[in-house]
Amino acid sequence: MQPEIIPRAEHSVSRADISEYALKVLYRLKKAGYAAYLVGGGVRDLLLRHRPKDFDVATDATPDEVKKLFRNCRLIGRRFRLAHVHFGRDIIEVATFRAQHRDGDEDGVMTDGMILRDNVFGSLEEDAFRRDFTVNALYYNIEDFSLVDYTGGLTDLEQRRLRMIGDPGVRIQEDPVRLLRALRFAAKLGFSLDSQLEQQFALHGERLLDVPPARLFEEVLKLFMSGYGIRAFELLVHYNIFRYLFPQTAGLMQADDGYTRRFIEAGLLNTDRRIQDDKPVTPFFLFGVLLWPVVRQQAQRLQEQDESELQALQQSAGEVVQEQNRHITIPKRFGLPMKETWLMQARLSRRQGKRAVRLLESPRFRAGYDFLLLRHQAGEPLQELCDWWTQFQEADEKNQREMLQAVSPGKSKRGRRRRKKRT
Ligand code: ATP
Ligand code: MG
Repeated sequence: MQPEIIPRAEHSVSRADISEYALKVLYRLKKAGYAAYLVGGGVRDLLLRHRPKDFDVATDATPDEVKKLFRNCRLIGRRFRLAHVHFGRDIIEVATFRAQHRDGDEDGVMTDGMILRDNVFGSLEEDAFRRDFTVNALYYNIEDFSLVDYTGGLTDLEQRRLRMIGDPGVRIQEDPVRLLRALRFAAKLGFSLDSQLEQQFALHGERLLDVPPARLFEEVLKLFMSGYGIRAFELLVHYNIFRYLFPQTAGLMQADDGYTRRFIEAGLLNTDRRIQDDKPVTPFFLFGVLLWPVVRQQAQRLQEQDESELQALQQSAGEVVQEQNRHITIPKRFGLPMKETWLMQARLSRRQGKRAVRLLESPRFRAGYDFLLLRHQAGEPLQELCDWWTQFQEADEKNQREMLQAVSPGKSKRGRRRRKKRT
């Protein structure tokens, strides 16, 4: 099949916008006699005049051949072998052209049409057709700076449309994670989904239940930490697949008075803003947001059976995480601070004595406090407590003492005085 080739003079991808490291890799491969292309999100985003997140290189050199060319190169990957060329903190990913293997190939072990391994080397053409969406299968050729389009990606890019390469039903069954990728790109690029692709959510969305929970963790993280988490969430709900990722949260969202949705939207908005402002965001906070309404509701039930707030939160946190891990594995290093942030919700209302000062010193205070504000935004009556903590953090020692006395009734005469209203 003949691809469409767009010469340098007729497209907008310029070397000036490509990272110097990606260019180094491309040129060195070329000099050694290999074919070398920029591909994927890097090309797509340059054409859309977005700043690419990373640059991926595709080549006909094998991973071992790539390794011989670069001192700073590591081979990684279990599903398929990739070469990572390191430049300080930057990594250029170099992948050898791969082919989509067909059902029945000895290397293409499949169950129910799901691809388990796809590390069969192939040609440039085969490499293009095994990719997910047409706009992700555009190649920039370092040989003559032309663009190579096998799948009609340029037209779809102009029409701002995501279209699956090949038969969408087959491609989604091969790898149901492509449904999540579709929503990630739709949210990030503001593209529409081709109608055939749209139908796949109802037809095959349930297949997400078969995806290994560790892989789902990575994908869900990308979905919500792209800077467009709110849009991604709305799309997941719209296409009715949020329930395959967070079944407990989705169930509660159907049944409650709107708290769950309000809370999650407030949390995701907060995350999106932080990303836009180049502030750090952490997975434990994000997963904490997505599960908190369930933890809260189950804790409320336990409290009705006479458990203390802290005990109730502790128990329900454990149960909710255990159930969630059946779908999406939350690594322990995130699971622990996530639970601490939830438990802090009980501690923030017990301010007497030395407790408040100790909480303030806790490494989890910031997340716990941000959480408190989100709960208030979602409609919990926490105005007084939010204001108190906002003020307490900024107060000097003397003012802090006064604030503490004001919330410890009966300790001293001064303590009974009303604290000043914040202006
Ligand atoms: P981002 O800007 O988020 O990095 P990207 O399009 O570069 O977006 P990557 O996950 O970095 O996405 O993948 C690079 C390329 O590899 C994609 O553009 C696509 O061509 C191909 N690809 C990645 N995952 C899949 C998949 N599950 N199925 C088919 N092709 C895929
Ligand atoms: Mg990429």
